[in-house]
Amino acid sequence: MTKKAAVQREKIYECEVKRKRVLPGGGYGSFWKTKTVLDALEDGDSEFRCKDCHGKVKLFRRHVAHAAAPHIEHVDRADSEYCPAGMYFRDATDGRAPRLSEAPVL
Ligand SMILES: [Zn+2]
Repeated sequence: MTKKAAVQREKIYECEVKRKRVLPGGGYGSFWKTKTVLDALEDGDSEFRCKDCHGKVKLFRRHVAHAAAPHIEHVDRADSEYCPAGMYFRDATDGRAPRLSEAPVL
């Protein structure tokens, strides 16, 4: 067993953003749209979630040392452990199945 020297960080460059639309019967409804984090920032979106597990995410707006572009990371490690985009899920070697967040952003 070797320990990884570098601290791993999640770098997820696509997200879902909450948008509103006019319903056929009148009023507004909301829906989630998938786009890149970069596009979401340029479009001024303010509500984000993980497109794969629907979990809470933290937004990194600026270019930072460990990532090439604005991106998101899971807030809850439990989401990352069972999300196809999560680094803990991808590192898991037990053949676990992905699942949606237990505390999804609705
Ligand atoms: Zn996720």
